[in-house]
Amino acid sequence: MSNLDTRLDTITHFINGSKVDTLGGRYGDVFNPALGEPVARVALATTEEVDAAVQAAAAAFPSWSATPPLTRARVLFKYLQLCQQHTDEFAAMLTREHGKTFSDAQGEVGRGIEMVEFAVGIPQMLKGEFTDQIARGIDAWSMRQPLGVVAGITPFNFPVMVPMWMFPIAIACGNTFVLKPSERDPSPSLLHARLLKEAGLPDGVFNVVQGDKVAVDALLDHPEVQAVSFVGSTPIAEYIYSRGSAAGKRVQALGGAKNHMVVMPDADMDMAVDALMGAAYGSAGERCMAISVVVAVGDAGDKLVAALEKRTAALKVRDGMERDAEMGPLVTAAAKQRVERLIGEGVEQGAKLVVDGRDYKVVDRPNGFFVGGTLFDHVTPDMTIYKEEIFGPVLCVVRMADIVHAVELINKNEYGNGVAVFTRDGGVAREFVRQIQVGMVGVNVPLPVPMAFNSFGGWKRSLFGDHHAYGPEGVRFYTRHKAVMQRWPNTASAGAEFAFPQMK
Ligand code: NAD
Repeated sequence: MSNLDTRLDTITHFINGSKVDTLGGRYGDVFNPALGEPVARVALATTEEVDAAVQAAAAAFPSWSATPPLTRARVLFKYLQLCQQHTDEFAAMLTREHGKTFSDAQGEVGRGIEMVEFAVGIPQMLKGEFTDQIARGIDAWSMRQPLGVVAGITPFNFPVMVPMWMFPIAIACGNTFVLKPSERDPSPSLLHARLLKEAGLPDGVFNVVQGDKVAVDALLDHPEVQAVSFVGSTPIAEYIYSRGSAAGKRVQALGGAKNHMVVMPDADMDMAVDALMGAAYGSAGERCMAISVVVAVGDAGDKLVAALEKRTAALKVRDGMERDAEMGPLVTAAAKQRVERLIGEGVEQGAKLVVDGRDYKVVDRPNGFFVGGTLFDHVTPDMTIYKEEIFGPVLCVVRMADIVHAVELINKNEYGNGVAVFTRDGGVAREFVRQIQVGMVGVNVPLPVPMAFNSFGGWKRSLFGDHHAYGPEGVRFYTRHKAVMQRWPNTASAGAEFAFPQMK
């Protein structure tokens, strides 16, 4: 990528409280996917620019980490108010660069704001434990301390919310932060930076480097970076985890997904179909928690496919700024081509294409990256459309004789991000929850995305590392535990002791 068209706005880095353009001369295109044309260019950082951002964060750390947690929380309180005031500005950026519908974008911003609402409670969460008199005259306590400079590397599909899984908690804990957002939709990162500055965050505490692999590798190798949070596809998550941890960093790397929804014959079919429409086609399927496989058990299949066929064919696919749009375009021309190719492979490999979203035309948007809602029936586990994360508006129906085989299928899948079961039978649901090898489980809830005060994370190849994202796990990830034992000798000293200390 190298867009040298200076007529387009340039999306720059944000280092030490100021916007800075790249000196390296490399730029990428940022598209409006509904129009199918570039609307800005994004600077792509050099290793030296990443170093400048890390150095700014390192310089800001001593003072920020020594700032009382309540003072840090008050800055975030102000930022929280600013985010609320700028919700529609964030949402319009999202629709412009990502393509999702404006109402979906507002929802994303809302879920991001919840992270700040959690982070402002940081004084409560940083409290340690205290034990009086662990031995005569000795007390013990624990404390959690920030790590230093931490980095966040984020995907294109939630450019407002996913960075907010990371930096509000990291900063509240006393760390300083370098964000490397997706180069596909980088604008919200600069709005975050502006609002944090307006809220009173000292320069250097939050920095943004725009870029691609060059910037990511520079962060992974930088000796000052203590921890890396990553969200993106599985191959890159695995790479980030191995390279970052080999360099001695703490790493949490959240990867891709293939989320199943089991529909039992006794399920409320209307409820299941409504749930599937939103969970499969919302945000054009570009969600890591999107349902991409329905496992229809017993005779649920025929009813489900008949209802889904009608609804999928009638989906309103439009420019996301259109009031009645239910689904927008895919993020890039390459994403559209890839999804259409996978649909073709599904047909070649024998799945029944019930609704075909290829060659979808939207009035007045002839160049947009649109793919219509697509539905496959009789998909089998050996097909590419079952195995690969499609990350588009394609729903695959797999038919299974019973719940035992459904659970077996899901547990064999390499991913383990989200899953759902729709049934009226509490006993079936309970066993399902206990046996399923997946990190986030919904019972009659299609997208079981935990709230900010819980934590988010998949199992298997959907997450590399030991900590889930945000909530209490986020606080643990961004802090180190320290155990302290303290004795203040009284004036009557008992003399030196040479045996290993034991309780007396
Ligand atoms: P991606 O892996 O292509 O990119 C993610 C980040 O990694 C971006 O910042 C990108 O610049 C960087 N990157 C890309 N290629 C790289 C390389 N070779 N070396 C170093 N860095 C590289 O992911 P994406 O397409 O932006 O996002 C979609 C993916 O993210 C999907 O697989 C989706 O399931 C996943 N995702 C997962 C979660 C989760 O919580 N598990 C949440 C959102 C998205």
